[in-house]
Amino acid sequence: MPDVPGATGRKVEIYDTTLRDGSQLEGISLTVDDKLRIAEQLDWLGVHYIEAGWPGSNPKDDEVFRRAVSELDLDTSTLVAFGSTRRKAGKVDSDDTLRHLLDAGTPAACIVGKCWDYHVTEALETTLDEGVAMVADSVEFLRSNGLEVLFDAEHFFDGYKRNPEFSLRVLEGAATKGASRLVLCDTNGGTLPDEVERIVREVVEYFGSDVGVAVHLHDDAGTGVANALAGVRGGAIQVQGTINGYGERTGNCNLTTIIPNLTLKMGVETIPADRLERLTPVAHHVAELVNMALNPQAPYVGESAFAHKAGIHASAIIKRPDAYEHVPPDTVGNGTRFVVSELAGKSTILLKAEELGLQLDGPQVNDVVDTLKRMEHEGYHFEVADASLELLMRRATGWEQPWFSVESFRVITDDLETSDAAGTAGGVSTEATIKVHVGGERRIATAEGNGPVNALDTALRRALGGLYGGLDRVHLTDYKVRVLDTQKGTGAVTRVLIDSTNGDRTWSTIGVSENIIEASWQALYDSLVYGLLLTAAP
Ligand SMILES: [Zn+2]
Repeated sequence: MPDVPGATGRKVEIYDTTLRDGSQLEGISLTVDDKLRIAEQLDWLGVHYIEAGWPGSNPKDDEVFRRAVSELDLDTSTLVAFGSTRRKAGKVDSDDTLRHLLDAGTPAACIVGKCWDYHVTEALETTLDEGVAMVADSVEFLRSNGLEVLFDAEHFFDGYKRNPEFSLRVLEGAATKGASRLVLCDTNGGTLPDEVERIVREVVEYFGSDVGVAVHLHDDAGTGVANALAGVRGGAIQVQGTINGYGERTGNCNLTTIIPNLTLKMGVETIPADRLERLTPVAHHVAELVNMALNPQAPYVGESAFAHKAGIHASAIIKRPDAYEHVPPDTVGNGTRFVVSELAGKSTILLKAEELGLQLDGPQVNDVVDTLKRMEHEGYHFEVADASLELLMRRATGWEQPWFSVESFRVITDDLETSDAAGTAGGVSTEATIKVHVGGERRIATAEGNGPVNALDTALRRALGGLYGGLDRVHLTDYKVRVLDTQKGTGAVTRVLIDSTNGDRTWSTIGVSENIIEASWQALYDSLVYGLLLTAAP
């Protein structure tokens, strides 16, 4: 382990707020079941705290806590309910927010309070003394009801820069009443690492070993992860953040980046060491549950994080991976990937074959190289369609997919201009019919869909009729069409890319044709065959 002053040998708690702060991201809408599944993933990864929501703020979060407490069997994580302090000039024992926190039934609560004097006088419109009392009373009340209390110091860095005496008084109010963690929040996300480190250090020195300091950081200046590293250098013993950096605006501190940075580069103990390899699967699984494609360039866990466009370096990378990769990819559950394109020579193809565990002889390698060059000339682009490339290479060894063969398919699209006699609304309807041979039997299936790809996908699955259980988990996550020769307009060649997932793995397939249905079919066919291949593999 590298020796980093102020960090090596230390332990830092990981506090996940994907389910609360992370779900503020535009476009994320999680069901109660999604939230419970994400909590299971976080526990499996081994984070210390899971903030599951804000009880009392909406019926969904209430149900999350009701079911989480009874259904989840958490192994490593402590469940936390989030809320605010009591109202101004109110009483703790008649405060709805605090009562909801108790009703949530979790062992810990995290309550937010204002630490910037300007917010207290202008937004809350109360005195600074009352601002401190709201925090102190609320911490005391929750502690006296047996809860661990973390105090979330809103706008701490901005407030501290303007009026440190007041910001520290608020923290003191929480600490003296028994808060276990003082969570310094960069709520606007605009603070830079050197300031975070300095301010965290000053707070840590002020409180000594009486209470632990945590950091909660947003990525508005693009330094969310860097700020967390700085906070740990300054003495923070807990980092809050979200899986894949989800969160409003530009997101929260990305836990999938911060965890390996702390563990592998700063020698800080975070999640259990033997679980670090779960990071990539968890990042992908959570992306799947929030229904947002994971950024392929995400550090450590992205598809491209350890992808090499091999070229002349290919054999060198194999011999000395440490010269080309900043950490061994398998430590975080990812893997080295060689990106193959028409520029690929024989050595790259051999490397790719080795990566896939395929045995290719000399003529087969030549065959793959020639086929790649010809197909890329026609418009295929295998760099972005790893699964289609793998299938192509497997076919070069004489492999044929054993699961089904397609006799023919047909797609009909009707434009129903007006309502029919039964009063059904008009619109465009698509229907696909497919004839396949499976297990010595000829099967015909028809399905409707909201477009040709959807109709074909449904018809093929129907024709296979539940024979292959693994297919149930496979679904398409993205469908991209690109017209390659714009001069020809609709007569041009169309390239279709389909992204698919089975919940654990994602893959991309490609089709190219002058006919968009044919191009879509090629990509769809490869997608499902690859999904079956993954299921069949040990
Ligand atoms: Zn936040």
